[in-house]
Amino acid sequence: MPQIGKRGSYMKTEAIKKLRVEMETSKYGTVVHGEGNIEAAMVLVGEAPGSKEVELGRPFVGQAGKNLDEFLKVVELERKEIYITNVVKTRPYKINSRTGRKNNRPPNKEELMFFTGRLHEELKLIGPSLVVTLGNTALRAVTGEGALAISDVHGCPYEKEGMGFRVFPLYHPAAVIYNRALRPVYLDDLKELKAYIKNEVQACLASKGL
Ligand code: URA
Repeated sequence: MPQIGKRGSYMKTEAIKKLRVEMETSKYGTVVHGEGNIEAAMVLVGEAPGSKEVELGRPFVGQAGKNLDEFLKVVELERKEIYITNVVKTRPYKINSRTGRKNNRPPNKEELMFFTGRLHEELKLIGPSLVVTLGNTALRAVTGEGALAISDVHGCPYEKEGMGFRVFPLYHPAAVIYNRALRPVYLDDLKELKAYIKNEVQACLASKGL
C-alpha cells in the first residue's frame, strides 16, 4: 500500500474504494462503510452496524445517530468534520428462535479477524491524529491490546509507539443507555475530550507560530 499524504486525495479516494470492494466481496453480508471527511484529523470508531444502519447503508443512524448527535454537540463538532466508521462493517446477528427475528450480537472472532486488519488499513489511509473509540471492541481493535478494558481507561488519551495517532477511549453510548450510572461518567469524558481537542488545536497553531 503506497504512503499517501494529506494532499494525495485522488490516490486516497482510490485506495479507499479498493478496500471497500474487497470488504463487499467478503462472505459476511451487507457492508456499511465508514463515511465523512477523509481528510479529518479525528476518526470515530464504533463496534458494528445495526439493522437501521444496514437499511440505510450508513453508520450511526437511528438511535445510534441520536447518540452521535449528542456526542457532537458536547464536543462542538459537526458530523461532516469527522470520519465515522465501525470495526466490523456488517451486522452481527443471531436469529431469535422464538420470534424468528434477527437480534444483534457482539462480533465473533472470525468477523473481528477479517475486519480489524481492514480497519487498520482504513485508518492508515485517512491518517487522523486522533481516534475516538466507542466501547471495548473498538478500543481493543484499534490499539491491538486485547487486555485493555474501557472501564479502566475511558477518558484518558492513549498512545502507543508506531500507531501514528492517539486514541481517546469512550464508553459506547449504547452501554450508557443500558447502564444509566455510566451517564455522568460518559458526559465527563466528553468534556475531557473537548478540552483535549482544544489543547491540541492550540498546540498545533502555536507550533506554526500562529
Ligand atoms: N451503529 C453503528 O454504526 N455502530 C455502533 O457501534 C452502534 C450503532
